[in-house]
Amino acid sequence: MCERMIHDQFGRPIHYLRVAVTDTCNLRCRYCMPADMRFCPPARLMQDDELLRLARLFASLGFNKFRLTGGEPTLREGLTDLIREVGSIPGVGEVALTTNGLQLAELAAPLRAAGLRRVNVSLDTTDPEAFHQITGHDRFHQVWRGIETAEATGLRIKLNTVVVRGLNDGPDVAAIARLTLSRPWQVRFIELMPFGALHEFQRDRLVTEAEMRQTIASSLGPLTPLRDGQLDGEARIFKLPDARGEIGFISSVSRPFCDQCGRVRLMANGVLRLCLLRADEVDLLGPLRAGASDDELRALITASVRRKPSGHEIQEGRYATNRTVSQIGG
Ligand code: SAM
Repeated sequence: MCERMIHDQFGRPIHYLRVAVTDTCNLRCRYCMPADMRFCPPARLMQDDELLRLARLFASLGFNKFRLTGGEPTLREGLTDLIREVGSIPGVGEVALTTNGLQLAELAAPLRAAGLRRVNVSLDTTDPEAFHQITGHDRFHQVWRGIETAEATGLRIKLNTVVVRGLNDGPDVAAIARLTLSRPWQVRFIELMPFGALHEFQRDRLVTEAEMRQTIASSLGPLTPLRDGQLDGEARIFKLPDARGEIGFISSVSRPFCDQCGRVRLMANGVLRLCLLRADEVDLLGPLRAGASDDELRALITASVRRKPSGHEIQEGRYATNRTVSQIGG
């Protein structure tokens, strides 16, 4: 472990930065973005030089894992350059990307050339009509082509599937899990988390890991735990009999893993979010634009990260309603 790595007030090493490079999106997933969503004015968004300066400061404080997300990160002009630049910062071991896959067919090769090695694609169904219902856009085949192109380009694939009661908790769950029989992908099922204005809808539509596992096992056979049942990042990993790929569950609501969380998030407006599901935030872009030195910004980052909350309070019925996940960067 890096000597400079920051430990928070609870002793957790914090070394993983997720950066939302935009808060806009070209899909409108019903469980993610409210219809009346307001986006950040362009002047309040981090410019490339500001984003890279902050990324370098985080790396100098022991952050070694970076993920670019959003909003939809492929909507940011110059994304490939950002991937290349962040990946070349000393100490950065890995840069990853989370995308809805709409632009992957065109971008996979340039992203690979820029140093990307793996990509997480969000896909909640394999049924084109259900995709249209969930996202508001009839674009399933475009995403699928993107995933296949990314794989052919040599990118390792993880699929992220949020399961929402009444939207994709039926045959979709087994259909997505079945992909791991023929593809060497890791498919991760994510419990719906409550955020912002949609938190009541999200709370009512939760499908737990236990229910998803039962649905999968009853149609595809037993799920064998891998990695001794330990977390792999934020997911617990399983395998179906004779599968080429793996199935993970990210169960932030029913089986929280806050005690092992090493992440903070830099939103597209340059504000640091200390916990996905708590409202604690610290503005970094304001001080940067006001002329703060690198040492001053490093001190601000260190003090802020140390104050990372111990965990979310969903089980106590407390939700952070100030942001949507698309603003924070999922
Ligand atoms: N646009 C990119 C994408 O689609 O992957 C990145 C941003 S998106 C907000 C990141 C992930 O957050 C997606 O997999 C999305 O399904 C997930 N997500 C959105 N709202 C969520 C919620 N309420 N609970 C859990 N995951 C959510």
